[in-house]
Amino acid sequence: MATISSRIQKQHQRIAQACHAAGRDVHSVTLLVVSKTFPAEDVREAFDAGERRFGENYVQEGLDKIAALADLRDQLEWHLIGPLQSNKTKPVAEHFDWVHSVDRLKIAQRLSEQRPAHLPPLNICLQVNISGEASKSGASPAEVPALARAVAGLPRLRLRGLMAVPEPAAEFEAQRQPHRALAALLAQVKAELQTEQQDLTLDTLSMGMSADLEAAVAEGASMVRIGSAIFGSRAAKPTAEPDTGH
Ligand SMILES: *Cc1c(COP(=O)(O)O)cnc(C)c1O
Repeated sequence: MATISSRIQKQHQRIAQACHAAGRDVHSVTLLVVSKTFPAEDVREAFDAGERRFGENYVQEGLDKIAALADLRDQLEWHLIGPLQSNKTKPVAEHFDWVHSVDRLKIAQRLSEQRPAHLPPLNICLQVNISGEASKSGASPAEVPALARAVAGLPRLRLRGLMAVPEPAAEFEAQRQPHRALAALLAQVKAELQTEQQDLTLDTLSMGMSADLEAAVAEGASMVRIGSAIFGSRAAKPTAEPDTGH
């Protein structure tokens, strides 16, 4: 069975090959290791293999893992990539380094108010519903420029870029299309905001997962979020609704 370490090496090879194919510098793409549903020991194994950035979807699970790995805290970057409700913002502002899933101003305002003064500003990506799926979280592309302007003005946050989870597609060309749209949206926001706010660094396009890493890198991803290709497939998440047996 492949080890976590060998699977991580494989992902770095995929990134390097995708960068090569796109004529990009291999260092322009960062690997975010998505550890959701996997135990702290697996994160430690990835740490031993050289990884420092980890993504979690569920607030409580992430907090538990951050606590279990407190001895590594100074060396790790913890990213929240899953949906965030307004009643959960405080522990996120206190314990995470990044939030990729901000899709409305109210959440950003709370994170800014609750970010402790002794910590650096919280890094933020705006999540965009780039495929326009009715069930998906994320701001609509049309909302993003105004939301970005408002979030960039909040004192304890640092707006870094955009994030998306496109609708899955099997073909490479079909996979590229939403990533291209997200990249174009970031370029638009940059053009509108960076002239007004000189200190703004919109350097992050958080896109690409295990199944579409190559397509995302081809379209300019700067951070790919990889889970199952490293840790294996996840058990199905228990649903919030009790199974009624129908
Ligand atoms: C689970 C998840 C990932 C990782 O997905 P894999 O297909 O396991 O690589 C990336 N981003 C988000 C937002 C996720 O929820």
